[in-house]
Amino acid sequence: MHFVIIGGGPAGTQAATYAARLGVDVTLVERDVIGGAADMWDCIPSKAMIATGGAMAFLDRSHEMGLSPVRPLLDLERLRQRIAAITTRLGHATESILTSQDVRLLRGEGRMAGPHSVVAETAEGRVELEADAVLLSTGSRPRIPEWAPIDGDRVLTTRDAYPPKDLPHHLVVIGSGVTGVEFVHMFSSLGSQVTLIVSRQQVLPTKDPEVAAVLEADFLRRGVKLMKGARAVEIERSGDEVAVRCDDGRVATGSHALLAIGSIPNSGSLELGTAGVEVDEHGYVPINHHCQTNVPHIYAAGDLSGKLPLSSVASMQGRKIAEHVVIGHTVSHRHLNYDKAASAIFTEPEIADVGLAEADAFAEGRKIRVTKVPFAAAAKALIDDDARGFVKIISDPATGVVLGGSIVGQHAAELISVIALAVTTGLRVQDIVESMLVHPTLSEALAEAAE
Ligand SMILES: Cc1cc2nc3c(=O)[nH]c(=O)nc-3n(C[C@H](O)[C@H](O)[C@H](O)COP(=O)(O)OP(=O)(O)OC[C@H]3O[C@@H](n4cnc5c(N)ncnc54)[C@H](O)[C@@H]3O)c2cc1C
Repeated sequence: MHFVIIGGGPAGTQAATYAARLGVDVTLVERDVIGGAADMWDCIPSKAMIATGGAMAFLDRSHEMGLSPVRPLLDLERLRQRIAAITTRLGHATESILTSQDVRLLRGEGRMAGPHSVVAETAEGRVELEADAVLLSTGSRPRIPEWAPIDGDRVLTTRDAYPPKDLPHHLVVIGSGVTGVEFVHMFSSLGSQVTLIVSRQQVLPTKDPEVAAVLEADFLRRGVKLMKGARAVEIERSGDEVAVRCDDGRVATGSHALLAIGSIPNSGSLELGTAGVEVDEHGYVPINHHCQTNVPHIYAAGDLSGKLPLSSVASMQGRKIAEHVVIGHTVSHRHLNYDKAASAIFTEPEIADVGLAEADAFAEGRKIRVTKVPFAAAAKALIDDDARGFVKIISDPATGVVLGGSIVGQHAAELISVIALAVTTGLRVQDIVESMLVHPTLSEALAEAAE
């Protein structure tokens, strides 16, 4: 069995590792960096920048902790080196796991050349591969509309921002979804003035309004300007100034503009037609619950599959595909349930949620029990001088089974794991209440919210 994978992000590398562990002969074709956009451009550099901003924000509050206030100077070159060191280290770690499992790595551009045929254009020439099974995991890239003259200097996509040459004096962020608000947080905590263009009346339009309100309050406290109900339609650069014009005539001016309005799938150069693989009107490759495309031995995963665009989801799809390639559809092969994927937004406070949302339950007319505890009641939050936010748990009133939850507050992205485990394994609120947790910790708020 020869399994050929095109694209070495989280989906491709996880599939390669697991399939090789299960005894399959695996070839992974990657044109750029092992670890993918996730490690190189998206998850890791953004969180490294946020960590530096967080350290600065913490030092800003140092007087509250009984220290003399200090304001450190930002060294963008050192920050750049730090990010490069982290991504290189992660790439090497993933590569050594793959090679230790005897995965064959081919550096080059991959494409289909028939249902069982993959071609890799490498520096050494063309390599033709016969495959019993194929995984397409080529990810996505930032969406750039015609009206956005990206120059990588003053008009940026997220990939130009780690960090830019100079810290923006005033950054205009276009897009108030997860990526947009993370960049607002990142740059405002590093010291930039920020204007956020919000197309609706709420940042994070798909999130619980109560959750979005906490974030908006934090943005306003920091002096972030919110331009609500406006859609950017034009960006004009003149010298060192950038003007973003909106559909209602308003104009946001700054020193830099950053576009965070979604991504588009990397399917265009895969020549999927030669293999008979269908692509939807947006370029995504539709899949079934086993991540198979319309051609059963060709799988797709990660951002390319148009499911939840999260690294964690891509990795899990990769693992499930490896199992399916080896053992096929058996009773032990559990389907992925995307509704149970935890997700987080690394702002300050952090925001995380999993499973059923309160608003969706109401919309469905479903009976739920909602319990909520503010962090202001948790000793550890007071000790850490950050009592913002709350824990909310949603459960079934009849059985007590945990259906979902959201957390706003420090370390929310870590704390949500407990609720995610409960949602995935069907634990009851009582199981959380009866866990004897460490005191004083933020986790205690979880147990209280479960009461
Ligand atoms: C700014 C930002 C921050 C994010 N932060 C998070 C986060 O904190 N947590 C989270 O879970 N998700 C986050 N995401 C989403 C996450 O990055 C993606 O969901 C994830 O990268 C998808 O993984 P993937 O395996 O599909 O593809 P990718 O990581 O995009 O990897 C695809 C790989 O395929 C390669 N490739 C493409 N075409 C070819 C070809 N023809 N031949 C060979 N190789 C090819 C590319 O070079 C790339 O290495 C973030 C996204 C953005 C934009």
